[in-house]
Amino acid sequence: MFEPYSTEEEGLIKDCLEASEHPELPTIIGVAKDVKPLVDLWVTSAIYKKLKPFCKKYNLIIDHDNYMGMSPKEDWLRNFERKITLGTTKLIGVPYIPNLKNTWLKVFISRSQKLIDEAKRVNWYTLIIDDDIINDPPLDNFRFGENLGFPQCCIDFYSFHNFKFSKEKTGFNTPIEIYKNTKGKFSIYCNNIIMGHWYFLIRHHPCSFNCKNTVAYAKTLHKAIREEDRVYADKITQHLKYPLLVYGEKNAFVFDGKLSGKKIKYKDTHFCGAGRDKYKEEVFKEGNEIKITNYEVSIYKDGDFVTGIEKKDKYDGVLMKFD
Ligand SMILES: [Zn+2]
Repeated sequence: MFEPYSTEEEGLIKDCLEASEHPELPTIIGVAKDVKPLVDLWVTSAIYKKLKPFCKKYNLIIDHDNYMGMSPKEDWLRNFERKITLGTTKLIGVPYIPNLKNTWLKVFISRSQKLIDEAKRVNWYTLIIDDDIINDPPLDNFRFGENLGFPQCCIDFYSFHNFKFSKEKTGFNTPIEIYKNTKGKFSIYCNNIIMGHWYFLIRHHPCSFNCKNTVAYAKTLHKAIREEDRVYADKITQHLKYPLLVYGEKNAFVFDGKLSGKKIKYKDTHFCGAGRDKYKEEVFKEGNEIKITNYEVSIYKDGDFVTGIEKKDKYDGVLMKFD
């Protein structure tokens, strides 16, 4: 599950992988196939250099932001996280210096320089200056979402929650808000839980897990990928259908198995997230079945109880299945 993709077939996907074995592959393909107007990626300076000739070959423009990001130390983060819930991207900004070690560069790829210039102005994350915390302004979030080609209904939904979050200074759990806002079946074309992990289609938070505009966009991208590589397109479909146990944004477990009712029987599990949740990973690997109630996630091995993970509330670990 989720092993990096590789192919021997000559063409766009192989060229892209040779430039960068980036798990955001479907998004880069989206820009190269004119399905998506712009993509933003965090890469090392070395990868940036390798992406340049790739972009030139496909008539794409690549440009970088004027600052770089450096990973903060855990204790530094904990100090801030006591005061505020930080976003999933947490980097310390430093001025751009080519080849500076241990830093990440924000790059933009598009056919339009105008779009890149605007994205450079409006893309930003929560800023921490000494002890002051400045959240990204909702209007700029709005604009950046448009630059990236996200559906308007989804930008509105996300902006509303993000604004509420900044105002109330309380964290909100994006996938759970989307879950609550979904009526009916979950479409694989709206599965953003596994985004950034090689086999996905959408890179935004949809307004619901069956948002019509998101389905239309993701279907177009899937078709474009299929034109290049049927094997890759089928692997994407397969991964989007795996049952999930979702705790939050970039905090979910994917199971290679079958969901029935509130149970998943599985052969393997994979953590889709930022950082790691070692305890849960270990206990899920020990078992081959989980059962969910409003109070607990119980783990079983061949029918025998292994352990239980208590839930803070009914949304602390939600089963999801996209079809
Ligand atoms: Zn939407």
